[in-house]
Amino acid sequence: MSFVVRFLLTVSCLVVFSAANAAGEIVIYSARNEQLIKPLFDAYTAETGTKIRFITDKEGPLLERLKAEGAGTPADMLITVDAGNLWLAAKEGVLAKVDSATLKANVPAHLRDPDGQWVGLSIRARTIVHNPKRVKPSELSTYEDLANPKWKGRLCLRTSKKVYNQSLIAMMIARLGEEQTEKIVRGWVANLATDVFPDDTKEMEAIAAGQCDVGIVNTYYFGRLVKKKPELSLALFWPNQKDRGVHVNVSGAGVTKHAKHHAAAVKLLEWLSSEKAQNLFADTDMEYPVNPKVKPHAAVAAWGAFKQDTINVAEAGKRQAQAVKLMDRTGYK
Ligand code: FE
Repeated sequence: MSFVVRFLLTVSCLVVFSAANAAGEIVIYSARNEQLIKPLFDAYTAETGTKIRFITDKEGPLLERLKAEGAGTPADMLITVDAGNLWLAAKEGVLAKVDSATLKANVPAHLRDPDGQWVGLSIRARTIVHNPKRVKPSELSTYEDLANPKWKGRLCLRTSKKVYNQSLIAMMIARLGEEQTEKIVRGWVANLATDVFPDDTKEMEAIAAGQCDVGIVNTYYFGRLVKKKPELSLALFWPNQKDRGVHVNVSGAGVTKHAKHHAAAVKLLEWLSSEKAQNLFADTDMEYPVNPKVKPHAAVAAWGAFKQDTINVAEAGKRQAQAVKLMDRTGYK
């Protein structure tokens, strides 16, 4: 090999190496599973050259890991579901404050932390589902009405141990007060047709099978189930349209307090809220985009438009402990 060729090879190697370095790498801890996040990360890497390494686990172990690793953590970003979990991560001090005009423009104020430590990246509504063979939409109205004795022996619910229900009750406390919320939850418990379910899907299968007539679930579980089993007798209903609106929650993310690549992580977070990424989000998981400029997937849009409760989702975290105690008192297992 001539000197010139060897020299050129060396130079080009150096150029490639420094380009990769400049583009950098971001490390993510994610409570969302690989099939939901990897298409987004691949698109980001293709667009920017920035590599993304990630590990997935349940939210509890990821938060414990971040706390245990402290300043030594390799993680630059935490991705998880439910504002209650995001709020807890912020409270435990593992997230950094991010002040970004892009995030403020792309994510409505009620779907991000007022303190700037996390933002919602997708919306899920926790709404009423019913068996249309047994219930007419005109019989339904509000979450509160499910406490009415007319639903005795006809209501199915998921366990109160799931954060989604804790957040729902926390928001009802914020809106209706503790006393009123407790009355409603007692009514729900009195109306239960059967023991609470471990997940939304089993609850919906019971409704479709006629074990009960009505329940409360997250919209994407409904979407996934009817996509797989379109023959099931199930329909969504949007409650509280004349007052506060449907309870919504988010999946979201925050940059970690001890991020080694803080600026790169902020850029990724901003990109995740962009129209391009939000379209990808909308296509993969049957949730609603947070960015109001982006339309949901056609299958999701077909469920119809609805008014959502615009109370800040951080309230779900603030009142979570209160909600858990309340559910405990009422015998909601
Ligand atoms: Fe879920």
